[in-house]
Amino acid sequence: MDMIDLRSDTVTRPSSGMRQAMAAAPVGDDQYGEDPSVNRLQDRIAELLGKEAALFVPSGTMANQIGLKVLTRPGDEVVLGHEAHIVWHESGAGAANSGVQFTPVGEGGLFTADDLAATYKPPGHIVFPPTTLVAVENTHNRGGGVVFPQSDAIAVAALAREHGMASYLDGARLFNAAVTSGRSLADLAAPFDLVSIALSKGLGCPIGSVLTGSREIIARAHRARRMFGGAMRQSGILAAAGLWALDHNLDRLAEDHAHARLLAERLAGLPGVELNLATVQSNIVIFRLAANMPDAAMIVTRAAELGVLVSAFAARTVRAVTHLDVTREECRRAGDLLAQVIARREL
Ligand SMILES: *Cc1c(COP(=O)(O)O)cnc(C)c1O
Repeated sequence: MDMIDLRSDTVTRPSSGMRQAMAAAPVGDDQYGEDPSVNRLQDRIAELLGKEAALFVPSGTMANQIGLKVLTRPGDEVVLGHEAHIVWHESGAGAANSGVQFTPVGEGGLFTADDLAATYKPPGHIVFPPTTLVAVENTHNRGGGVVFPQSDAIAVAALAREHGMASYLDGARLFNAAVTSGRSLADLAAPFDLVSIALSKGLGCPIGSVLTGSREIIARAHRARRMFGGAMRQSGILAAAGLWALDHNLDRLAEDHAHARLLAERLAGLPGVELNLATVQSNIVIFRLAANMPDAAMIVTRAAELGVLVSAFAARTVRAVTHLDVTREECRRAGDLLAQVIARREL
C-alpha cells in the first residue's frame, strides 16, 4: 500500500534535480571558510532576510540551541510562547546546554508586548532570574502553524531592546509565514537580533538550517556551533540543496497551504473533532479528539491501517502536515480516510 505521509514536512525526499545540484556542488573545507557553496548559501540567506551575516548549521534544533547559548547566560530567564519548539521538542537542551529557564506566556504560541512586560524581571534583582531573551516562533508549530502577528513581533522586540534583552526568531517555517502574511522575509526578520530558518521543512532539503544576524552575533554563533559539534567540512554538498530549493521550492509553498486547508475543512465539524479553522494558516492541521472518542494514538494506528500517516501530538491531539511530496488528490483522500476512522468512534 502506498502510504500518504502527513506526519511532518520533514519526511520529503530530495528530488532528482536537487540531488544533481548536490552532486555537482563546488566544495571546500568550510572550517577554513573555503566552501563556496556554503558561503553562497549563507550570503543568500543573509541578503534575503536583510541581515549582515549568516551561518549554516545541521538542524533547526542546533540553530535554536546556538541562539540560546550566545544570547543568554546560565540562570537567565527566556520568555516565549506556550508550547514553543525550544521547550517541547529539544529534549531539555536549553536547560542542559545553556542553563536557562523558560517562562511561556500568551496563548496558542502567540503573545504580546503586554504579556512580556507583565513577566519581565530586571537584572540585578535579589531573587528573580533576569529576563535576557525573548523568543518568537513563526509560524508556530504546536499552535497549528499560526502566523505571529507582525505588529506584535515589532512591539515585543522593541520592548526587549528597551530593557536590554535580546530577541530571537525561531523561523524554522518562516517561509510559510511569508507566504501567508504576504510580507517579505526581511520584514519578518527585521525586528529580531538573531533569526533561524530551516531548509529541511517546506523547502524539501535533506539537512540544514541557517542562522542570520549581525556580524558580531554570527561570529559568536560560529564558536558555539563548534562547541556543539556542528561545524562541518565539505558541507557545500548540503548547502547546494538549499540553494536549489530557494530557486525551485519557494514559490510552491502556497500549494501546501491550500492542501492543508482542504484537509482541515474536511475534518472540521465532524462529530468528536475539535478543529479551529482560524488556526489553519499554513501547512499544519491540528485537531483534538473529544473525551468520548478514541485517543490520538488509536486514531493514528487506525489511520495507518488505511494508508494515512499522521502524528499523535499529545494524548488527544493529532497533527497532519502537508508538503511537496503529497498531491492535492492525496490530501483529499487522506481527509476522506481520516473522516472514516473518526466516524468509527468506538474506543
Ligand atoms: C522542526 C522545527 C525545529 C527544529 O528543526 P530540526 O531540524 O528538526 O532540528 C525548530 N523549530 C521549529 C518551530 C520547528 O518546527
